[in-house]
Amino acid sequence: MTPGADQTIPSHGTENVLPIVPVALVSCPDYEPSRVNDALRRGVSLIGGLERWVSPGTRVLVKPNLLQGLGPEKAVCTHPVVMGAVIRLINEHGCKVTLADSPGGGIRYTEKNLMKQYREAGYSQLAEDPGCTLNRDTGFQLLKYKEGKVCREFPVINPFFSSDHIVVVSKAKAHILTLMTGATKNLFGLIPGLEKPLIHSRFQTGENFGNMLIDLNLAVRPSLHVADAILAMEGDGPTSGTPRHLGVLLVSPSQLALDTILCRLMSIDPLDVPYLSCAVRRGLCSADGKEIMLLGDPPEAFIARDFRTPRTFRGSRRGIKVSPLFRAVHRLGRIYGVRPHVEISRCTGCGKCIAICPARAIKLIGDHAVITTGECIRCFCCHEMCSDGAIALKRSLAGSILHMGLGWYE
Ligand code: SF4
Ligand code: SF4
Repeated sequence: MTPGADQTIPSHGTENVLPIVPVALVSCPDYEPSRVNDALRRGVSLIGGLERWVSPGTRVLVKPNLLQGLGPEKAVCTHPVVMGAVIRLINEHGCKVTLADSPGGGIRYTEKNLMKQYREAGYSQLAEDPGCTLNRDTGFQLLKYKEGKVCREFPVINPFFSSDHIVVVSKAKAHILTLMTGATKNLFGLIPGLEKPLIHSRFQTGENFGNMLIDLNLAVRPSLHVADAILAMEGDGPTSGTPRHLGVLLVSPSQLALDTILCRLMSIDPLDVPYLSCAVRRGLCSADGKEIMLLGDPPEAFIARDFRTPRTFRGSRRGIKVSPLFRAVHRLGRIYGVRPHVEISRCTGCGKCIAICPARAIKLIGDHAVITTGECIRCFCCHEMCSDGAIALKRSLAGSILHMGLGWYE
């Protein structure tokens, strides 16, 4: 997979040397196809044209928000008219498009389920365009990212590995776990099916999950982002909120800049969004968006001053409550997922795993390492570091039984 024309998140930025990043904000009052088409082309042209971000004649993975197959009026998935306009534009550039996503909400990542979600979200007709294929491959591979702060290995769906560019077409929504979702959180859909709860269970706090999302975005490096904020969602998103008209499309090479502008439209302070505050602390963007060059229509007319945040949001700087649903997901993931176990007979007591463990979950007791399971965040750095093969990855008995059960369910 070839990275985007420009690296969209600077890897080693500090607040003082952040590069200027463009975000185009264009009015688009509704989903009438010719208006969406015109707005998209205007947005892309404002940030320098498609050729600046996507090489002609390449293979492009277009990643929607296909959380679950719900009709466009629910404002859960990226609208099919926006998807169609993006796919046509990329096709005209001589590129082959694969539309791919792994739905969330506990939906098993099988071909049958995928086809059903495409149909229900209104995406099936997009495959009538000869330049667009709907992905049916439900395999995945590990994407390594050794510079990751909290996560250095991600299970990622197969089409990513056969694409030259990723173009993310997200949906602007409030979110009960991350306060809002737009471009940055959208990439979590590259993690296949039931691997998602495992990641949720490994990264339970807002800060850990936020840093994991930033690591994932740095590892994947999308080339371009389009956000469907024509009909956004307020309240208890990403599924159970209420559609809220904002009437704009956003286009940018930077997911962090695009989400910062979305926050402004939703009257949300970016520092209350855990992954944006992590990105600010890591020096990848600023709290006030001073590096953003906003182009197109003036944002003031589109700001929803009474935008409803989710009920899990405690208020500015007071954090987000973990909902009972996510507690259940965490529990399931903890039971189901593999864990590191020390094979005492192989352990030499060298202490390399103790030095690398970010959660300080390993101690030397006697002459061998011991892991405190409750403190382990399952980054698997110890497994990677142990050159004596003394750290095995295993499921608990309950996890093995659950794993067998899910296998039969397939
Ligand atoms: S790195 Fe391996 S051999 Fe060394 S203490 Fe840890 S488990 Fe034992
Ligand atoms: S024990 Fe191993 S897997 Fe668990 S947090 Fe420490 S390094 Fe990561």
